[in-house]
Amino acid sequence: MPDTSVDSGPYPQPPRVFVADIGGSYVRLGVSDSPGSVRLLESVPTPVDSWEAFGATLQSLADRHIGQTRSPLVISMAGAIDPASGVICSSNVPCVSGRVLGAELTDRLQRRVRIANDADCLALAEAVEGAGAGHDVVFCVVLGSGVGGGLVVGGRVAGGARGISGEWGHGLPVNTHVDFNGSGHAEPLSALRCGCGRMGCVDTVGGARGMERLNAVLNGEQKDSHTILDDWRQGRDRAQRTVSAWLALVSEPLAAVINITGASIVPACGGLSNVSSLIDALDAAVRKRTLREFRERVVVPGAFRRDGGLIGAAIIARQDDCRQP
Ligand SMILES: [Zn+2]
Repeated sequence: MPDTSVDSGPYPQPPRVFVADIGGSYVRLGVSDSPGSVRLLESVPTPVDSWEAFGATLQSLADRHIGQTRSPLVISMAGAIDPASGVICSSNVPCVSGRVLGAELTDRLQRRVRIANDADCLALAEAVEGAGAGHDVVFCVVLGSGVGGGLVVGGRVAGGARGISGEWGHGLPVNTHVDFNGSGHAEPLSALRCGCGRMGCVDTVGGARGMERLNAVLNGEQKDSHTILDDWRQGRDRAQRTVSAWLALVSEPLAAVINITGASIVPACGGLSNVSSLIDALDAAVRKRTLREFRERVVVPGAFRRDGGLIGAAIIARQDDCRQP
């Protein structure tokens, strides 16, 4: 269990905060009565195409669970939020894209609503109350269907210009040669086109879909990431080849991120992080490549696999004085 006695800084600590995690499938509303814990109140399907239905869903959740109190609500969701304008760009909930979401929901729900990026919330949860507690610079990697991340320095998210930071999945090209067996002989590997329009981003190979793409390119077979990883743990040749390439391609840019940010711990979250032997192998591969010599583990399993978004949103609610609408 994470240490919930960690002092998260000289910030206001309202006793009870309301938080929501909004994904492409579900809106999950929770309440946190103390740091490090969130109780789920209700989960309902996310209206992704209708703004009116989206607003009405949040309104009815707030009416049912928050009631007449003016308690603020902090929402964790995927998307880039421009810190100057408040405009959100969301790929998995299209009906909110282009809206000043926090301000519009504040009007509708008659309470202060703050929107925070989900990877930032996860990173904050890990940095303050999870696997990164006690470290000043924490880089949290999300190895889900794609690759994401969040950077926390001194217990605060490094927000960055236009609300984008920690996105190591794009812009850092992976190597186009792989030394599969450490022999010094590297085989060529074609760069894959990324969804962002560039070629060879970490996201093209780094998440579960990327591992599957890599397996298809190297072995000419379509297998899902669970099967590839099961085969890898059983020592099967083709999966060994795929996962060796994955480890080499992902560990290099991750070591570069550590060199650049000075992170001393990298909690890993997302679906692939549930395979502890993969995270063990990634840690070993990263430590071979960082400038700083780490005697202890640097890539570790995250402490919050499921509720990191909600826990991080609760930390934001306590760090900022959101109590007054
Ligand atoms: Zn990209």
